[in-house]
Amino acid sequence: MKIAKVIVDVQASPINQTFDYIIPDAYEPIIEKGMRVIIPFGPRKITGFVVDLDNESTLPEHKLKPLLDVIDITPVLTSELLDLGKWLAQQTLCLYITAFQAMLPHVLKAKYEKHLVRLTEDRLLPDLEMLFSGYETVDFERLKTLNISYYHVRQAIQSGDIMIRYVVTSRETKKYETYIQPAVEPHKLEETLIDLPKNAKRQSQLLHFFIEHPDAISQNKLLRTLNLNRANVEALIDKGLLTEEKQEVFRNPYDDQQFTRTTARQLTTEQQQAIIPIQNAIKTEQHGVFLVHGVTGSGKTEIYLQAIQDVVDKDQEAIVLVPEISLTPQMVTQFKSRFGSNVAVLHSALSAGEKYDEWRRIHRKEVQVVVGARSAIFAPFENLGIMIIDEEHETTYKQEDQPRYHARDVAIKRGKTHHCPVVLGSATPTLESYARAQKGVYKLATLNKRTNERAMPKVEVVDMREELHAGNRTMFSRDLQAAITERIQRKEQIVLLLNRRGYSTFVMCRDCGHVKECPHCDIALTYHKKTNQLKCHYCSKEEPMPNICPECQSDLIRYFGTGTQRIEEALRDAIPEARVIRMDVDTTRRKGAHEKLLKQFSDQEADILLGTQMIAKGLDFPNVTLVGVLTADSMLHLPDFRASEKTFQLLTQVSGRAGRHDLPGKVIVQTYTPEHYSIDLASTYDFQQFYQREMQIRKRFQYPPYVFLVLITVSHVNHVKVIQSTQKIAQLLIKNVRQETVVLGPTPSPLSRIKDRYRYQCMIKYKDEPKLRQLIQKIINQFSEDIRKENLQIAVDMQPYQLM
Ligand code: ADP
Ligand code: ZN
Ligand code: ZN
Repeated sequence: MKIAKVIVDVQASPINQTFDYIIPDAYEPIIEKGMRVIIPFGPRKITGFVVDLDNESTLPEHKLKPLLDVIDITPVLTSELLDLGKWLAQQTLCLYITAFQAMLPHVLKAKYEKHLVRLTEDRLLPDLEMLFSGYETVDFERLKTLNISYYHVRQAIQSGDIMIRYVVTSRETKKYETYIQPAVEPHKLEETLIDLPKNAKRQSQLLHFFIEHPDAISQNKLLRTLNLNRANVEALIDKGLLTEEKQEVFRNPYDDQQFTRTTARQLTTEQQQAIIPIQNAIKTEQHGVFLVHGVTGSGKTEIYLQAIQDVVDKDQEAIVLVPEISLTPQMVTQFKSRFGSNVAVLHSALSAGEKYDEWRRIHRKEVQVVVGARSAIFAPFENLGIMIIDEEHETTYKQEDQPRYHARDVAIKRGKTHHCPVVLGSATPTLESYARAQKGVYKLATLNKRTNERAMPKVEVVDMREELHAGNRTMFSRDLQAAITERIQRKEQIVLLLNRRGYSTFVMCRDCGHVKECPHCDIALTYHKKTNQLKCHYCSKEEPMPNICPECQSDLIRYFGTGTQRIEEALRDAIPEARVIRMDVDTTRRKGAHEKLLKQFSDQEADILLGTQMIAKGLDFPNVTLVGVLTADSMLHLPDFRASEKTFQLLTQVSGRAGRHDLPGKVIVQTYTPEHYSIDLASTYDFQQFYQREMQIRKRFQYPPYVFLVLITVSHVNHVKVIQSTQKIAQLLIKNVRQETVVLGPTPSPLSRIKDRYRYQCMIKYKDEPKLRQLIQKIINQFSEDIRKENLQIAVDMQPYQLM
């Protein structure tokens, strides 16, 4: 008896175990670990992952049920990824099924039909001939009805005689394109051409074309090339001279032809020193973590490119992670230009279908390089030679829902398995990574110079309190206004950053200070000008903008704060001649909008690029000579121990946007707290000094990297129940952890209510607590009744970045 051990798709904690199913004979030859199957579970049919195969079960045979179907004919998860999934689940305290699903593209969760397609004219085995019985494509289900050997099918697939085509029945279907080709021999086309009436110019054009190019061509391309329309083609199809056929196209969101190929540059001395140990690790296949700390413009990307080249030459594979926002066309271009169609790109601006196609190119080993956002770290490569995390300090590498993992940890785990280096790059590394490098756990390489030897732009800090005292009530200091005007006159360009994290466009009464909040979430509502509505960003509740203050009836209730839109208007008032491009979530929502705005700016159709965090990094425009930061301290006052670090990082990043080329650059930073060390030290690019200062503070208040944190957040609609549950959790923790470990709380979460659910938290600070995960899991299990029946939620974050 053959048994499959299956992790089932049921989202409940007692189900975090495998279930045994009998493998029916038909599936026995093909079933493998890492495939998805359909199984009976109680009265339902659900999906699951085969994680192991066995010859016996601990259960008696009559208690076992057979599995109903296999979804994949080749495994979607490699055995390494199965192990990684288990590790991930244990590390982040999530369900195995959640971890497995996080490693696959979304489309694989959709329903689809499978077809078998015959690719060869040669004779197949008799049962396969019966299967196709003259058709080119048959439904996969026929296998079962005709009782055909799966083994034969798989052999034929492996030898390329037939293939499986998935037809996704959800909306993210594969893309099909119409192809046109001659239906008859070329001489037949020539005959028709001679007989054609003289006025049938378009048909003659088409015939000429196919006489010279008898291969199938995409209809779109054909019509574009010949400047014809569909009716012209149809006429010849009707006459039986051309045929059309729908073919599946692999969507490649990037037209690989458009990239000019680049080759390796001669490295600078600093680059050389940084790359040599990495290249050694690649050559000797040794795991190690390398922290490349290089100022913006020091040529980190070139180091990545050349290290990857080594890996590609060794027939190995590379994963490059870039933060979502910096997946700008500029970044993609650099990799495509060096490695051409050997690169797959995975990021959120692609449609689910496009992502799936890119994932399949990885799965089929059609590419050796992947550039992508966080989840690309799970690319199903089997022979990894390097993993690179650019801008390693970015918080987007931490996933904020289950599984709550950090891509850096996953990379290091995979790096150990594959015996390959992991490279972390940043101008402003996290304190955690830099501290590890100081201790020698990571290997540090420092690049202090820009490749063009230019100095970093000079930073001027403007005290906005003084502006106010001098009677300037606008958002633009006098220095900034003057500098902008001067640049516009010189036909140079300006980047203006609005630091929006922690800021929002809230509505406040100027008489009594009343702030309009969401009745369900305890946070300020955000004003949306277009609809004149107030909206909650957590629960989407909307209400009309009030005309009078509900507290004091004053009519001086206004929206406040500084949205990009408002700044744009103010900018037009202050400097009417400025041409402004605004880039924020609103103007970049549409696919391709991001690229279009950047191109406009790079074509110098505007003087000012105004935007949020998304403009702070990765961009490189030669004509930008001024960077202005409008509100440098807007996130300094958030309830987050990393606030200073994030401020320092952002200011350093954005300063790197100016004067990257021949023209010297300048940065103006506006702030209400110029004396704050994160602003002061960012203005002199003094990372070392900042690191020392910040480490002292972390030590004094016992924050990472001196301790590890765990954040446990409990939520429920009943206020009392939340407090009691959180209290109980805290008590159980205190009773069982070491003396040195600190348990804080319960306290209300900074966002104390979301969608009518009250939220309380407790925080654990520990240095060494080897059994902590098991302990927390055990505690949660004690609440399983409440979780199942009462919808109590307990979220555990073993490495919290968002402390809200
Ligand atoms: P970083 O990623 O460290 O901010 P970049 O990779 O953007 O820096 O490099 C800055 C600029 O220097 C780019 O225009 C890049 O093409 C160029 N560059 C990189 N390496 C070299 C080199 N060895 N010689 C000359 N120019 C280089
Ligand atoms: Zn009021
Ligand atoms: Zn709300």
